[in-house]
Amino acid sequence: MDKIIDLRSDTVTLPSPAMKAAIQSAVLGDDVFEEDPTINELERKVAALLQFDKALFVPSGTMSNLIAVLVHCGRGSEAIVGDRSHTFIYEAGGISTMGGVHSYQIPNLDDGSMDTDRIRAAIRDDNVHFPVTRLICLENTHNMCFGTPLKPGFIRETVDIARENNLRIHVDGARLFNAAAAQKVPAAELVDSVDSVSVCLSKGLSAPVGSLLCGSSEFIYHARRYRKTLGGGMRQAGVLAAAGIVALDEMIPRLEEDHNNARILADGLAQMKGIHIRLDQVHTNLVFFNLDSYRIEPHELVIQMEKRGVRFLQTGPNRFRMVTHYGIEQDDIVYSLEQLAHLV
Ligand SMILES: *Cc1c(COP(=O)(O)O)cnc(C)c1O
Repeated sequence: MDKIIDLRSDTVTLPSPAMKAAIQSAVLGDDVFEEDPTINELERKVAALLQFDKALFVPSGTMSNLIAVLVHCGRGSEAIVGDRSHTFIYEAGGISTMGGVHSYQIPNLDDGSMDTDRIRAAIRDDNVHFPVTRLICLENTHNMCFGTPLKPGFIRETVDIARENNLRIHVDGARLFNAAAAQKVPAAELVDSVDSVSVCLSKGLSAPVGSLLCGSSEFIYHARRYRKTLGGGMRQAGVLAAAGIVALDEMIPRLEEDHNNARILADGLAQMKGIHIRLDQVHTNLVFFNLDSYRIEPHELVIQMEKRGVRFLQTGPNRFRMVTHYGIEQDDIVYSLEQLAHLV
């Protein structure tokens, strides 16, 4: 086995040859002084792409979401979040521990949305007993809801609720470009009336490090200070931005390939007797499935597949996730399906 087919996540992607070349030749400066030309170029490029005043380069999606909540909310205020959202589950409770922001969790529906009546009902009245509602957070695509792109109608209705109630809206768009590719619309259209969005370079776009937080000039002014507070002010960070610039040009146009591979994978899984998969829940590059028969124990399946050179995640007692990404070719999908068929 010479090649490991690593389907655990799109975060395992390695920089392309063009990214490595760009890193080598990047023009650098001190970004805390706002003097790194490559960082400045990346920030301008992403702001223009998503049609925001400004963008800020930050080390991770987690820090990006935290900064957004810190800017939009004050201590003792409340942010409405989905109960399967990355911010609620996977960011170590940062909005509470670092920001003193209370979260109001609303159940996510399987399409990544939330019942808009429940969003309305969650907004607090002005009463000394209550925290003050300031923010609604959305996630697009929705990681724990099968990588589903949010429906434009849901986004529009949530924006209306926010405007009526003087709330802000932040979008965790770690995989926003996957949503745009799946729905065949420009990414800017998916965030055209929200207050801030965070996009990751290090997921499907395959850059080594970094996210961009976008918003108004005033929002980014405050975000820059919080980035410093959190220790995210980096110096010659243009070495990272150089790869990010290439990532935008090179990787956004090929996300559809990942989605096609995910579809081939899902169709193959659906044809296997021992596997249960909801094909209607495969929209982008994330594929979830269960074992239907117990010819093999769930944890044993992962071990046996690893021996055959295929890695993926067990995400529950009988639940698995495979993610397609740059570096995974159609042949790899065919090979993975063949090996799986032997075991289930
Ligand atoms: C990965 C991810 C993040 C966080 O990104 P990191 O760079 O790993 O901190 C945030 N939101 C979603 C939906 C993600 O998938």
